[in-house]
Amino acid sequence: MTTSAASRVVHARAPGKINVFLKVGALLEDGYHDVATAFQAVSLSENVHASAADDFSVRFTGSIDTSSLATGGSNLAIKAATLLAHRAGFRKGVHLEIEKNVPIAGGMGGGSADAAATLLACDALWGTDLTREELLELATQLGSDVPFAFTGGTAIGTGRGDQLSPALAKGQFQWVLALADFGMSTPIVYSELDRHRDRHSQDIFPASAQPQVDASVLQALRAGDPHMLAEVLHNDLQAPALHLEPQLGAVIELGEENGALAGMVSGSGPTIAFLAADLDGALELQIALSAARLTVVRATGPVHGARIIGD
Ligand code: ATP
Repeated sequence: MTTSAASRVVHARAPGKINVFLKVGALLEDGYHDVATAFQAVSLSENVHASAADDFSVRFTGSIDTSSLATGGSNLAIKAATLLAHRAGFRKGVHLEIEKNVPIAGGMGGGSADAAATLLACDALWGTDLTREELLELATQLGSDVPFAFTGGTAIGTGRGDQLSPALAKGQFQWVLALADFGMSTPIVYSELDRHRDRHSQDIFPASAQPQVDASVLQALRAGDPHMLAEVLHNDLQAPALHLEPQLGAVIELGEENGALAGMVSGSGPTIAFLAADLDGALELQIALSAARLTVVRATGPVHGARIIGD
């Protein structure tokens, strides 16, 4: 290896996401659920810096406390790099430095963004030259939210959320995110949803096996109208997440009292995503929630999927 190849650093970035609509289908025999979701990629993103190494390692920096994260083979970024190396027949490794901004287990797909950016960075670093379609196929193997972190923008996800079709979205939406100082396990929130549906099977319609995204959501996205979108935000995982962590309900109320058009649990929580009417509304909301000692960040969407920033 030449000195310049050894010191080369490829920088890739991938976005976190908000599910502006998430319907969860009935529990299937394999223990999973199909979903129908509308994803929006937002400007809270992960930065992956990849450099040549003989084996695989990762180090985290950035605004998020990463002390709980495993850095070995179970880390999604390491999984992505080893999967690509295996697929491309590449025999060396990579050192990854990840500036993490998306909360861990926060319902915003941060681990998936790490995996998507790592695929792209290693592909460029190693010169594996896979097509975008081939990388997307690897993304699907890594987890159901990884393909969306790869493609970004605004998209409809069906199946496990990994069968994507782009959705037209006009303009920029202003989001304010209240971050929690704890994480929530996605499988536990799904189990709570199943228990809730069992308990109330007499009073609620059974969940459809193949849920669909409401046409009103597509219309609001196409119109780029935050007021319309606020009316149709929906998340089937919100009730079970609030059942598990009831204090999140008060956070939603506080945001809605302080000018948010609507607030919702993001994905499986615990991040709460508030939609604001415009930038001024978002700034005011950010100040009000910060004054209540919440950890708050602003984000806009849609933004690009994974891409190379520097090489
Ligand atoms: P989703 O919304 O896609 O369900 P999430 O945002 O709730 O995901 P992530 O932060 O993506 O959650 O990660 C979920 C779990 O994956 C964490 O509990 C963590 O232990 C594990 N994990 C493995 N690698 C990573 C990584 N690079 N970053 C974050 N979590 C990781």
